[in-house]
Amino acid sequence: MAKPFNLLKTSNRSDLRYRPGDNNVVFIKPGDAEYEILRKGFNKRIDKKPAIIALCKNTLGVAEAVQYAAKNNWAIAVKSGGHCMEGFSSNNGGMVINMSAMKNIDWLDNDTVKVNPGCKLAEIYDAILPKKRIIPGGSCAGVGIGGLVLGGGYGLMARKFGLTCDSLHSVTMVDGTGRIITASGDDELLWACRGGNNGNFGVVTELTFKTHIAPPTMQSHRFRAYKINAARAKTILQKWFELTATLPVECFSAFVLNGKTLYILLTNIGKQTPAVKNVIAGLKAVTDKTTFNMPQPLARALKVYYGRQEPLYFKNASAGLYKNFEEINAFIDKALDIVVSTPGMIYQVNTLGGNIQNAAFENTSCFPHRACSYFSELQTYWDMPGQEKRLLEKFERVQQVFTGNGIKAQYRNYPDINFTNWPELYYGNNYKRLQAIKAQYDPGNLFRYEQSLGKG
Ligand SMILES: Cc1cc2nc3c(=O)[nH]c(=O)nc-3n(C[C@H](O)[C@H](O)[C@H](O)COP(=O)(O)OP(=O)(O)OC[C@H]3O[C@@H](n4cnc5c(N)ncnc54)[C@H](O)[C@@H]3O)c2cc1C
Repeated sequence: MAKPFNLLKTSNRSDLRYRPGDNNVVFIKPGDAEYEILRKGFNKRIDKKPAIIALCKNTLGVAEAVQYAAKNNWAIAVKSGGHCMEGFSSNNGGMVINMSAMKNIDWLDNDTVKVNPGCKLAEIYDAILPKKRIIPGGSCAGVGIGGLVLGGGYGLMARKFGLTCDSLHSVTMVDGTGRIITASGDDELLWACRGGNNGNFGVVTELTFKTHIAPPTMQSHRFRAYKINAARAKTILQKWFELTATLPVECFSAFVLNGKTLYILLTNIGKQTPAVKNVIAGLKAVTDKTTFNMPQPLARALKVYYGRQEPLYFKNASAGLYKNFEEINAFIDKALDIVVSTPGMIYQVNTLGGNIQNAAFENTSCFPHRACSYFSELQTYWDMPGQEKRLLEKFERVQQVFTGNGIKAQYRNYPDINFTNWPELYYGNNYKRLQAIKAQYDPGNLFRYEQSLGKG
């Protein structure tokens, strides 16, 4: 049962006017020095201008900000790492609750760690790997743990340890009425925070994780094929599906078609077993160049995948979760045709499966797509704003191949503003249950954005 905590019992402050330097929260408005920096996110394509930014320093500050927004009837967007691909962590004319100053990482015991959502993934890895512990997070350094875990969270170790949200033990959240709630155990709110609370019904201010023993090393192998056409891309993709279905849970693989160049990554945090060797031999046989690396200490190996950290112009969205190749066999050539003829466009398929499909996780989280062993994403990047229109048109054409051919599962952490039936795509059968939680914790619909719960 969630435990509400009445703000008024802990704070006498009813006066919530703009007060820079406040101990709990600083309100920043257009024209203030920090406004231009704080309003921006990782995606330069998104350009929103909130009426006010609440830079919160603690949970009480968040509660004060929520009450201030309610008084002024401002919609609230919540921002932790600012990596939302469609800018749902900002808005025009409302309040953005910015969590970037809340970055504590505290050990509660040898394997349990409490973090604030403003921590970025690299900061968490840096803090916990020296203790030989790990949380299965994503790969990019700058992604915020807040948005990642609340939408699910997959990465190189998810097949071994589950999604990031499967290691989430408890949360503290300020809801839409300003109450401070804690949720643990079989609480319905915790279930919803494991995959369904991206800024939907409250601001999560503390996240407690059960960590895992960190694997000492990770080994990676890379396979490349050049100047490929759609037919060859399809043949290799089909082989990749067939081979990766046999991978041990310690392995992750990604098929990355970038225009006419194909790159396949295979990582392994376990032993080089015959099953792994068989997959390596199979991938080597269908590609042009193979690079093997020796096992690296985990902390160093993870850094290889940290990615670029400065803001970029891009569009990246979920392009379907699939159970197997048969789901896309009949139409994938149409999508591959567009990708191989569009420099700057990337179609990527990542392995899920393994312990993500553990029945215990299925029951305790609202992430609805565990039966799908593969997650695909579409990406496109550009440098000059003038390139955007053409690339986005192509992007949309590829997406229509998937949506028009019955792909029914999409990952909420890779949203696409053009998905019309997003409640079903992101949340499947769990949408109604999530709406009931929304009604309980945010009855006034203070937390709202283009694809927030309650609008479906
Ligand atoms: C370069 C890049 C790499 C990525 N790599 C991976 C990956 O390897 N694995 C993976 O699973 N995903 C990955 N993602 C997707 C990522 O999980 C989502 O973009 C995630 O939502 C980002 O979280 P954030 O806190 O950085 O973003 P934000 O933009 O701050 O927030 C994202 C969403 O979560 C909500 N939110 C954030 N903080 C809170 C909070 N404290 N309380 C309530 N709601 C909150 C926001 O309102 C918003 O809807 C990647 C994204 C990018 C851009």
